[in-house]
Amino acid sequence: MSMTGRCLCGAVTFVAEDVETDVEACHCGQCRRWSGAAIMAASVGRVDFSGAEHIRRYDSSEWAERGFCQECGANLFYHLKQADKYVLWVGAFDDQAPFRLAGEIYIDSKPPGYDFAGDHRRLTGAEFLASIGES
Ligand SMILES: [Zn+2]
Ligand SMILES: [Zn+2]
Repeated sequence: MSMTGRCLCGAVTFVAEDVETDVEACHCGQCRRWSGAAIMAASVGRVDFSGAEHIRRYDSSEWAERGFCQECGANLFYHLKQADKYVLWVGAFDDQAPFRLAGEIYIDSKPPGYDFAGDHRRLTGAEFLASIGES
């Protein structure tokens, strides 16, 4: 599935291919501090950015960086550097109707005051890291 998106001000736009519409919500402390709350993100096979000169990248760990528009501050993606794999924030896509919440990760980091409804998988941080071979 090919889908388009953009930042808040429109300086950065993108076309993503092979978009995974079953998405996961992440409750980890980094995502919450970076975005304001839990985030939902979609894995993509590839993405082409226009206005890439407006993208600022922040190294949030040894293995990953987080990208945002330096003009409007809109958060755009999480990028696994070695695998060159992009995970795009659902809110950046033009059409968000196809996305379905399929799971939650870092459930043990979620603040107690809210929950996402639904019968889907919920992994702790340790379970998630084990599932991607990073335990
Ligand atoms: Zn922008
Ligand atoms: Zn996270």
